[in-house]
Amino acid sequence: MSVPIVGIVGAGQLARMLYQAAIPLAIPIRLLAASETDSAARVAHDAATGAPDSIEALRGFAATCDVVTFETELVEPDQLHALEAAGVVLRPSAATLTVAVDKREQRAAMRRVGAPVPLHQEARTMRAVTEFAASSGWPVVLKTTRGGYDGRGVWIVGDEDEARAVVEGLTGRPLLVEEYCDIDAEFAVQVARRPGGEMVIYPAVDTVQRDGVFRESLAPSSLDASRTSHAARIATAIASEIDCVGMMAVEFFVAGGRLLTNELAVRPHNTAHYTIEGCVTSQFENHLRAVCDLPLGSTALTAPAVATVNVIGPDDGSDPATSLAGMLGVESAHVHLYGKAARPGRKLGHVTVCADSGDEAMARARSAAERVATGARGGGR
Ligand code: ADP
Repeated sequence: MSVPIVGIVGAGQLARMLYQAAIPLAIPIRLLAASETDSAARVAHDAATGAPDSIEALRGFAATCDVVTFETELVEPDQLHALEAAGVVLRPSAATLTVAVDKREQRAAMRRVGAPVPLHQEARTMRAVTEFAASSGWPVVLKTTRGGYDGRGVWIVGDEDEARAVVEGLTGRPLLVEEYCDIDAEFAVQVARRPGGEMVIYPAVDTVQRDGVFRESLAPSSLDASRTSHAARIATAIASEIDCVGMMAVEFFVAGGRLLTNELAVRPHNTAHYTIEGCVTSQFENHLRAVCDLPLGSTALTAPAVATVNVIGPDDGSDPATSLAGMLGVESAHVHLYGKAARPGRKLGHVTVCADSGDEAMARARSAAERVATGARGGGR
C-alpha cells in the first residue's frame, strides 16, 4: 500500500506542526491555505490558496489528494457531505465534523454516552435566556453554537441587561445558555483513532485558560486518578460514538466536586502541543498515522513532567522572534514559533519543558515564554 497524499484544509500553526510531523514519515502533504502568509503556507512547498468554506476551492483541492483532513472547524457540513457523495475521502468524515462544528451536537453526543455536562439549553431569544436563568440563577454563560474559538463566542453575563446586549448583537443566531460553573480545575484528554476503531489515549493533562484562551498545560494531570480515568472512558466512548478518525480532544472542568464535559475538537489541539517532546508519539504524528490508516504510536510520557506555556503576542506588539535568544537561554526549553504576524494577545508560539517535577518544568517553561512578555532579549537577535 502506498502512502496517500494527505490534504490539509487550513494552514495555521496546527497545519504547520502536522507538516513537520509528516517529514520523517515521508507522507506527502498538500495544504489549502486561506492566504499564502498563513503559518503553514510560509513553510510548505505545496500550498494551494482558497477558502475552507468554498465548495469550489474544496472540490479542486480534494481532486489533488487521496485523503483530506482538517485543522479548522470553520467548514460547512453540507459542503463536506457533497464532497463525500462525490467520492472524496474525508478523515474525519462529514458526519463527524457535523457534530464537531456545533456545540449543540457535541453536547448531544456527550449525553448519548452518558457523559456529565453542564446544565444547558438552546436559546434563540431573550425570553429563553431569562427563563433558564430564573431556574439556574445569574450569572449564566452564553455560547454561540458555531464558529466560536479561544473564548470568542463565550460570554459570562451577570444579569438581564448584559445578556440582552449579547443576544441582540447576535441577531437570531442560535445560542446555548448554560449554568455558570465555579471551576476548580480544567483538564483535557486526547485520543487518536483509526478508521477501523483502533485507538490510543494520551495521559490527562491539566490546562489553564485565561479570558477563554488556553495558556498552559501540565502533564501528567495532578487530579485524582479515579477522575482522570473516568474522563478517559468518556473520551474513548465519545470518539467511538462520533466515529472520529484522527485526533480528538475533550475538555473537562471540575466544578464543586463535579466532573463536567465541556467541549470537543476533532483535530490536533493546543492542549496537546506538549506531546511533541513530552510523548513518544506526538499528537501531530498520530493524527497523520490515523488519517493514513497506519499503526498508531505510543502515547507514553517521555519524562516525569511536561509543561507547555503559550507564547502570546505582548502588549507592545513586538515579535517574539526578537526574543528568541532569551527564550533559548532557558535550560531545555523547546521553543516553537509559528511565524505569524505579531499582534497583542495573539497565539504566536509555545514553549515546552520536560523535567523531573511539575514545578521545575512549569517554572522553566513560564520563564522562557515570559521572556517575550517582558521583552528580555538575552543578547543577540
Ligand atoms: P471555546 O470554544 O472558546 O474553546 P469553551 O466552551 O471551551 O469555548 O469556553 C472557553 C472557556 O470559558 C473554558 O475553558 C472555561 O474556562 C470558560 N467556560 C466555558 N463554559 C463555562 C461555564 N459553563 N462556566 C464557567 N466557565 C466556563
